[in-house]
Amino acid sequence: MSASQTPNNSAQPCSCSEALRYLDRFLDHEVDAELTDRLAQHVTDCPHCGRLADAERHLRAIIRSRCAEQAPPQLRERIRMSLSVSCTEFKISGSSSGF
Ligand SMILES: [Zn+2]
Repeated sequence: MSASQTPNNSAQPCSCSEALRYLDRFLDHEVDAELTDRLAQHVTDCPHCGRLADAERHLRAIIRSRCAEQAPPQLRERIRMSLSVSCTEFKISGSSSGF
């Protein structure tokens, strides 16, 4: 009968390359609980990967709320331009159908 327990045996520390490989899926919550745990641990311990994960989170937040005021001016300008272009096209195609 084994008396000694090794709870930390299964939780191996993950390397930087592994963390970066799964960073995308980790941030999208597409990895299983165990890997999420290990990646979260690594991101906390490793300043390099922690900074990368932070930047990726920021990028995701900006992309998700593209119309929000946090979006950089250039991105807002591009969205505004594409909106006005489609607006103009709509107007032209709408007025061209005269009876
Ligand atoms: Zn790392």
